[in-house]
Amino acid sequence: MKVLKFGGTSVGSAARIKDVAQLICDGDQKIVVLSAMSGTTNSLVEIADYYYKNNTSGAMERINALEQKYVEVVEELYAVEMYKAEAHKLIKEYFEYLRTFSKSVFTIFEEKAILAQGELISTGMFHIYLQEKGESSVLLPALEYMRIDKNSEPDTAYIAENIAKQLEANPGITYYITQGYICRNFYGEIDNLQRGGSDYTASLIGAAVKADEIQIWTDIDGMHNNDPRFVEGTKPVPYLNFEEAAELAYFGAKILHPTCILPAKLNNIPVRLLNTMAPKAAGTLISLKSNKESIQAVAAKDGITAIKIKSGRMLLAYGFLRKVFEIFESYQTPIDMVTTSEVGVSVTIDNTKHLNEILDNLKKLGTVSVDSDQVIICVVGDLQPDNVGFQSKVVNAMKEIPVRMISYGGSNYNVSFLVKASDKKAALKALSASLFS
Ligand code: ADP
Ligand code: ASP
Ligand code: MG
Repeated sequence: MKVLKFGGTSVGSAARIKDVAQLICDGDQKIVVLSAMSGTTNSLVEIADYYYKNNTSGAMERINALEQKYVEVVEELYAVEMYKAEAHKLIKEYFEYLRTFSKSVFTIFEEKAILAQGELISTGMFHIYLQEKGESSVLLPALEYMRIDKNSEPDTAYIAENIAKQLEANPGITYYITQGYICRNFYGEIDNLQRGGSDYTASLIGAAVKADEIQIWTDIDGMHNNDPRFVEGTKPVPYLNFEEAAELAYFGAKILHPTCILPAKLNNIPVRLLNTMAPKAAGTLISLKSNKESIQAVAAKDGITAIKIKSGRMLLAYGFLRKVFEIFESYQTPIDMVTTSEVGVSVTIDNTKHLNEILDNLKKLGTVSVDSDQVIICVVGDLQPDNVGFQSKVVNAMKEIPVRMISYGGSNYNVSFLVKASDKKAALKALSASLFS
């Protein structure tokens, strides 16, 4: 069985939804994961924000505008009156639900319930469309099988057991349609896998059902060798191994959710990145195989803060690094990059929720300085120490860019640079010009 995930733009209009239906309906049994239609989750975030601010009329205005968009999609999507009426009824119910929040207290629980509606609507509409086409399809409710634990990590045993139950309850169906992104948490409340999390849903399902392949269908023909939003003339990378893909996703290649490669890697399930707008394009195949001895791609991760801790006697003071890391651990703040010298250590974080507390504690260990608005530029490829010359090529490409930190050797797959956010575009361009032209 294959798992196919279609992102927001891939289901972003009636015409796109029709294309997706045509693409999946080849008679082979599959699980289809859908995101919300593009723009919907952002609108839901805005609606929740109005509710937080007790601005009910603002929320209503936004809800009405979004509903109008869906009414138009329904008018265009369905040809048969019965299915059109069913879809209108479905939309009406979801939007009425969104309006009920005006009367109640608004907390993070209500916010998460609101954010879940986009995927519920898109999958509901898609299923009705497949029914109109006479296809064999069923909705698998993600809220019945997708769950995260106390640490917000996927509960893989629960997911496998419960998706199997859902599949068993619907034998002989050809197309199983399910929601990306949404889940329940440890307490049974509606939650989600973070923005862009539908990719993660697909790989978690792929791992749970031991799929033959996970396909991520989006609006571009695979992982490009640099960020196409900032650099012109980028090209798709035909093959990546799991490690390379995971590094690129984690370090900002938006085409993949940061953690979605891990479940596929652990179960050795190939992941194919494909373009809904050009279904024949080869895209990118992520598997154990890769291009040996070559630099594959560059990505950038925004919103980074660098912290430097200088201690008079770091080298002699064993236990210094442990103390530093324990402070970050106690505030559940992951560290991305680390560089050390005899007198100090520099680390980067992207979660600044507890920055002040962390800094107060670090100051007990030495002199602390902070630089915000930084970006990690990550170069990924087969960078084993034996492949002499690659590092110098990469470093040389950055010769005009002021670099705050360099990290190499943490894996055989990446070299990372920390630069100012204002130098990001220039750095990405310089790397493309020297590495890929
Ligand atoms: P979806 O809605 O299908 O999940 P996303 O917007 O999340 O799609 O991801 C696709 C987008 O990722 C592309 O349109 C592209 O602008 C962006 N992107 C950033 N870096 C890369 C990259 N290295 N290769 C391909 N796309 C990238
Ligand atoms: N709809 C969610 C979002 O916009 C999840 C996703 O698209 O992957 O973040
Ligand atoms: Mg995405």
